[in-house]
Amino acid sequence: MTDMSIIALADEARLILQSAFRKDDACNGMIVLPGRWDADRGLVDLFIAGVPDGRSVHPKGAWMPRREDVVELVRRVINSRSRRWDHARLRPHTVREDWWSPIRSEFDFIQSGPEFASGWIDLIIGMSGWLAEHYDGHWSTSQLKEKFGGLRFYHNAGDQPTNEIVTVGEWLSEFICEECGSPGRLRKRRGWYRTVCDHHAAEGGFE
Ligand SMILES: [Zn+2]
Repeated sequence: MTDMSIIALADEARLILQSAFRKDDACNGMIVLPGRWDADRGLVDLFIAGVPDGRSVHPKGAWMPRREDVVELVRRVINSRSRRWDHARLRPHTVREDWWSPIRSEFDFIQSGPEFASGWIDLIIGMSGWLAEHYDGHWSTSQLKEKFGGLRFYHNAGDQPTNEIVTVGEWLSEFICEECGSPGRLRKRRGWYRTVCDHHAAEGGFE
């Protein structure tokens, strides 16, 4: 029962990472292989190799994340997704109407939002679980929203690990469908930007 689910989730991880590293030749040899299903924790031990440590380099000098951070966050996002997984339909169960309440209850620093669609639920959970490991109790979010198709995670933390994780998460949001959480990319329609998968691009009339 879980074999097809493991393969489907590993495919999603691979597609997100391929988009994220598409301009990074150092990652051309990347391999993503299925992990295993843990009854309590969902999909764990995704095998991801061929991604060297260090920052990707942007041709025009823009900020780029550390590749190992991108891999770490994708692992966390896919693990969160696996915990909501419907084995029969090979996709997550539909989110509840009040999907934000459990997130707000679990993470003290989440004090706002969401001003975006629920497809980013696993991105937020993945980021927040990681942020919680560094949390000093002295910061919180002021606004969580979508802007120009990407996530904006505004907060008042001053420490480096928090800032790095937040920036990686915002960056990765441009490869995850805001509607459903499937692999996606940033698209444009008459000056309006959204990050969506192929299905939701067609539905929304995006290029
Ligand atoms: Zn979608």
